[in-house]
Amino acid sequence: MGKYIIAGNWKMNKLPSETYDFVKEVAKVTEGAKCEVVCCAPTVCLAEAVRAAKETHVKIGAENLHFEDKGAFTGEVSADMLLDLGVDYVIIGHSERRQYFAETDETVNLKTKKALEKGLIPIVCVGESLEEREAGITMDLIAIQTKKAFAGISEEDAKKVVVAYEPIWAIGTGKTATADQAQEVCKGIRDILADLYSKKAAKEITIQYGGSMNDANAAELLSKKDIDGGLIGGASLVADKFAVIVKAAK
Ligand code: PEP
Repeated sequence: MGKYIIAGNWKMNKLPSETYDFVKEVAKVTEGAKCEVVCCAPTVCLAEAVRAAKETHVKIGAENLHFEDKGAFTGEVSADMLLDLGVDYVIIGHSERRQYFAETDETVNLKTKKALEKGLIPIVCVGESLEEREAGITMDLIAIQTKKAFAGISEEDAKKVVVAYEPIWAIGTGKTATADQAQEVCKGIRDILADLYSKKAAKEITIQYGGSMNDANAAELLSKKDIDGGLIGGASLVADKFAVIVKAAK
C-alpha cells in the first residue's frame, strides 16, 4: 500500500529549549527505521527541530498552516515560512483544530491545496466523534470529510497527501480503536480515494491510524493491510516509546 510513515504530533508540549536534544534522541533511537519518521512540532520549536534533524533520517512537520500566502493574519504561519525553515510535512484538520479553532472541511481543503502547491506534504486528519460512531454514520461522515478535503486536487497531487484516520473518541483518551475497526475505516477511505481517482492512486496514498496508538498496540494496528502508519500524540513525547512504534512499521 502507501509508504509507511510514523509521525509524532507533539501538540502544545515540549519547549523550544528541549527540542534540539529530543529530536536528536528520536533520530538515535529510530536509526535504521524502515519507515519515514516525522516529528510534528509547535511552530516555535520548528527551527530547532529542523536544525537537529539535519543529516539524520528524521523529517520535521508543522501542526498547522494558513491557506493564504501572506498578509494580515495575526498569529498565523504561511507555507512559505515553513518551507523557509526547512519543514517537510504539515498536519491539517486535526480534530482539536476543528473543535477549538473553527477549522472546517472548507479550510482543510484550502490548506491542503496550499501545502501541495508549495511542496509541503499534508497529513490530512479525518475522524468521527463517539456520537457519530454510535449513530452508525462513521463512514458517511468520513466520506464527506475525505471528499471535501480532496476537492479540486489532481490525481498526481492526491498521491502526495497522507490521510490520518483519527477517531475523535480515541485521541488522548487511552481508548484505541480495535485493529479491525481501524482497518475497516482505513479501507473505506482507500475505497473512497479509488472512486475519486483510481485504484492505483488509492494504493499509493499513505493512510495512517491515530488515536492512542502506543508501544503496546502499534504492532497489531500496523499489521493491518490498509494501515500504512500512525499519527501519534502522547506516545511521541517519549523517544523510546516512539521508537517501538517506528520499529513496528516494517
Ligand atoms: C493525535 O493527537 O493525533 C493523537 C493521535 O493523540 P494520541 O496518540 O495521544 O491519542
